Amino acid sequence: MIITVLSGKGGTGKTTVATNLAWVLSQSRKVQLLDADVEEPNDHLFLPPQIEETEPVEMLLPQVDQKACIKCGKCAKVCQFGAISVFKTGVMVFDSLCHGCGACALVCPKNAITEVPKAIGEVKSGKVHERINFSMGILNIGEPSGVKVIRKLKEKIDPSADIVIVDAPPGTSCPVVEALRGSDFALLVTEPTPFGLHDLQMAVELVSEMGIKAGIVVNRDSRGYESVERFSEESDIPILMRIPYDPQIAELYSRGILFSSHLPQWKVEFERLFEKIREMVEA
Ligand code: SF4
Ligand code: SF4
Repeated sequence: MIITVLSGKGGTGKTTVATNLAWVLSQSRKVQLLDADVEEPNDHLFLPPQIEETEPVEMLLPQVDQKACIKCGKCAKVCQFGAISVFKTGVMVFDSLCHGCGACALVCPKNAITEVPKAIGEVKSGKVHERINFSMGILNIGEPSGVKVIRKLKEKIDPSADIVIVDAPPGTSCPVVEALRGSDFALLVTEPTPFGLHDLQMAVELVSEMGIKAGIVVNRDSRGYESVERFSEESDIPILMRIPYDPQIAELYSRGILFSSHLPQWKVEFERLFEKIREMVEA
């Protein structure tokens, strides 16, 4: 079963839920944790892995032979991202805008464009312990899109794992879609605030469009703000767990310690959470 943990925005507790769930489930099952938050992966801070393998992720960038170029402008015209421009003096490629789609090389009538590989990030893999296999994607600073890194990371999915947990990037853009693709369940982490609700609504729209079953975890739950409950009822996306605002949990988090490993009742809570997910996936 593949469970993807996501949140409409950063800082809502996605990492907390993904890592605690992975740790609790690994007590009796074979778990794989994939950190797809490639701009800021931090699951490894809570579940330190022994890294055994590092693989580069590359994309192909166009390189123009200015002597062969006749400045016809076809490459610039076909580029959807404004990443290539034709000047009187020659053709310029703006690497930071290029998505490596190869369209410019395809349309060039003089074969003046060749595609050369450029490293944009890496995927690191290893084990946390015998029952948690871990991989994380890392996007190099300044690269425009983490989609390729996430795609490479998801090639690591081990079909023999009982549960695969994907920690998605924040937001609802292309990298999140890539992280969600092929998931059996989306676990939406939110906070009981107007901002949290707004981002939750966007995340629900996305998973509904993708046809993925979903449930909500309310983090830093302090009651008094009932709109998440109303939204849950109206949208038929159940609230599966509430993590209260608790100074003890916050303190453990700040020390990089999983609260489920220190507070035994949370081991039971995360097991219950998984049971609810399993029932929904199998329904
Ligand atoms: S399509 Fe080829 S020949 Fe035309 S401007 Fe671009 S690089 Fe030059
Ligand atoms: S590879 Fe694609 S995105 Fe990059 S410059 Fe060429 S057409 Fe534009």
